[in-house]
Amino acid sequence: MKFRKIALFCASVFLPLPLSVSAQEASTLKAKPHVIVLGVNGMELDIIRPLILKGQMPNLASVIEKGAYGKLRTVSAPNCPRVYTTVFTSTDPDEHGVTGFVVGGITANTHMLKEEPIWSMLSKAGITVGMANVPATFPVMPVNGYMISGMLTRGKNCEDGVLCAPKLSEVMGGDAVYPRGLQSELLKNVGDFYIDCERMPSAADLKGHEAAVIDQWLARVQLIREQQTKLFDYLLTERPTDFTFLAQSCEDRTGHWLYPITPFNVGYNPNINGVRQDAFPNQYIAFDKVLGTVLKHVDAHTYLLILSDHGIKPLREFEEKDPHAHMDHEKTTPVIAKHDFADGDDVPGSFFVMGPGIKNDFRLMGLGASVYDIAPTILHIYGLEQPKQMRGHVLTEIFGATDNRVAMHK
Ligand SMILES: [Zn+2]
Repeated sequence: MKFRKIALFCASVFLPLPLSVSAQEASTLKAKPHVIVLGVNGMELDIIRPLILKGQMPNLASVIEKGAYGKLRTVSAPNCPRVYTTVFTSTDPDEHGVTGFVVGGITANTHMLKEEPIWSMLSKAGITVGMANVPATFPVMPVNGYMISGMLTRGKNCEDGVLCAPKLSEVMGGDAVYPRGLQSELLKNVGDFYIDCERMPSAADLKGHEAAVIDQWLARVQLIREQQTKLFDYLLTERPTDFTFLAQSCEDRTGHWLYPITPFNVGYNPNINGVRQDAFPNQYIAFDKVLGTVLKHVDAHTYLLILSDHGIKPLREFEEKDPHAHMDHEKTTPVIAKHDFADGDDVPGSFFVMGPGIKNDFRLMGLGASVYDIAPTILHIYGLEQPKQMRGHVLTEIFGATDNRVAMHK
């Protein structure tokens, strides 16, 4: 395996600070910036804009007013593990090694990482790191804080870890919690929770019982979201860290099969797609409440960054010759929207950021910002220089010229 010259952060060996921060500089960085990143898989601007207009996402609207936002150019054929790992490393999928859900016949996992992820860099710089439910972080890796895995965690009834949901107590094939002692604390204080979102129902399950299966599935999704909210609130209250990265994935999962399409769209089935037209928008209204919980932990000194790895759009037949393009989970499950189009620019992600020195009510036009820019921008906030392998750039456009409180490095 090609393992670059990187030394990943290892709990048993506290490595010296990286070259970009001298000991003197480090000592002046006593009060480290507080950064919370909230990942929303596949957040689709086409769906959330009308909700913001209608006042149904008041928390996100307040972040927009206080901060900067824009589209986030993604990689080609985007999916969560592929893009999140680019977010972590600011490198191409072929470089970081997590090219998709399955790589070389094996479910993507952290052992495949060939580039150093940002949580390792921050940990080495003495910044405390907390991560929960972030895709492609299983098995968890040691950090200067805690890590709870997310999408691609394997477990009971979810043996391959692909788009399914083991509970914390059902995890198999690796650790879902670092440090191990945190697991019992979570089970005691948060309860047993689903680590990822629910698997989509199969065509066979749906047939003849569409409305009931849809409602049952949406109820499960809401339960998972409530558990996640409780987890996030617990961690932000009881385990505060300088850098916290939280993520959720039920919005995207819902969009794949319940996107509000019309009869003119590919794959329209009135028995499924005519039942709960508001199911997908409702996910974002529910997300806004999660955001409300996170915002309770955000003060004037906190940077809050909400980001999505890609959007999601109804199927376009010309993209595929495959007549089964509208099936997933090995052709068992009907999907009517997706994001792994060859041209990633068709499904950009998005970002919303507020915090000290960030411009107010600022919209970044076009696709100038990309998923590659997230890690360099976070390093910049901590006064750390971006390593050479990173392909992105610091999003300097979002910082105000005069009251930029971010450490500027030569
Ligand atoms: Zn998806």
